[in-house]
Amino acid sequence: MTTHGYLAREYFGRLLEALRNSGYRCVGPQVLDGAIQYRDLPNAQALPSGWRDSQAPGRYRLEHSNNPRQFAWANGPQALKPFLFAPRETLWCVERDARGALSFRAVLPEAQALAVIGVRACDLAALHLQDAHFLQGQFQDAQYAARRDGLFLVAVNCTHPAATCFCVSTGDGPDVPEANGGCDLVLDEVDDGFIVRSASERGASLIAQLGLAPVTLAQQTVVADQRQQAREAQTRMLPSRDLRPLLDTRLEHPRWADVAARCLSCGNCTSVCPTCFCHSDHESPAIDGSDSTHYREWDSCFTQGHSYIHGITLRADTRLRYRQWLTHKLGAWHDQYGRSGCVGCGRCISWCPVGIDITEEVAALAADTP
Ligand code: SF4
Ligand code: SF4
Repeated sequence: MTTHGYLAREYFGRLLEALRNSGYRCVGPQVLDGAIQYRDLPNAQALPSGWRDSQAPGRYRLEHSNNPRQFAWANGPQALKPFLFAPRETLWCVERDARGALSFRAVLPEAQALAVIGVRACDLAALHLQDAHFLQGQFQDAQYAARRDGLFLVAVNCTHPAATCFCVSTGDGPDVPEANGGCDLVLDEVDDGFIVRSASERGASLIAQLGLAPVTLAQQTVVADQRQQAREAQTRMLPSRDLRPLLDTRLEHPRWADVAARCLSCGNCTSVCPTCFCHSDHESPAIDGSDSTHYREWDSCFTQGHSYIHGITLRADTRLRYRQWLTHKLGAWHDQYGRSGCVGCGRCISWCPVGIDITEEVAALAADTP
């Protein structure tokens, strides 16, 4: 059952209290090191009230004003990804006893009920893709599954997309879909508060504790207008939601060499991308060989080691690595997961140190035949 109502801004703390009373640790957006990032949220006053972002290729800046809104910004560098797919974590340990026999022990994260406040539509779409990768294939990732089970998501519809956003063209935002949005609550922020809508059974039972007021016709009009403005504000786009046929004919296009001359192969784009899941596995043995810890950490198709197989590096130069990233993300993902791996969040554009823009690269590839 969907329920909705109005929560005045001064009562936002009630939402945090209701979540904590239900056993959730709350994290939410805060200004940290010049960017909006998710951290443990002590109270509603810690939210980024009055902050706006300004983003462009290779650029991210925050500005402050007296506007009381707490969510009038587009995504910062951090997505939901680190909460579920940890940047570095131990998978298992092994010990050798006095007779030399080995015993292995799986290491799982402690199960935790976690509420994330302020999630955007693009990141919900990315979560759906990470679920497909980590949970719905032949093997289920135990670490990801342990964290996913306890997740409660409070989404906020975007009112101020960044200049780098293009979720309209990928079909992933800026609003959370009315049905099957993949979250528990959806907020629309207005000047003096929030329209709160439940999107799951858990969400419905939580907002029953908030004492919401009825939503007025004027508030509904404001919400509809700002959703429309958010859609119209986006200027970047991809030319199609399925670029497989195009990319298959562009594998030898000179644009790959052009972008390789600018790309630093730093991997920033894959770190901030909410859908990238590549990782490498490592061993950390004790010096006397008595035990060892096996861990994994995020990797990137831009590193030298990522394509190292049996004595050869398959993608030895940046041209091949950038081509791999783009053709996998926008092409081969359709074969693996039934859709593109890009949700239009624009992070790879803002956080690329040399301002490489995925929409511009695709447009150049699409513009002419090689
Ligand atoms: S490829 Fe870029 S725009 Fe697309 S989801 Fe990843 S970071 Fe966002
Ligand atoms: S495209 Fe930009 S962020 Fe990605 S590896 Fe190249 S320089 Fe780094």
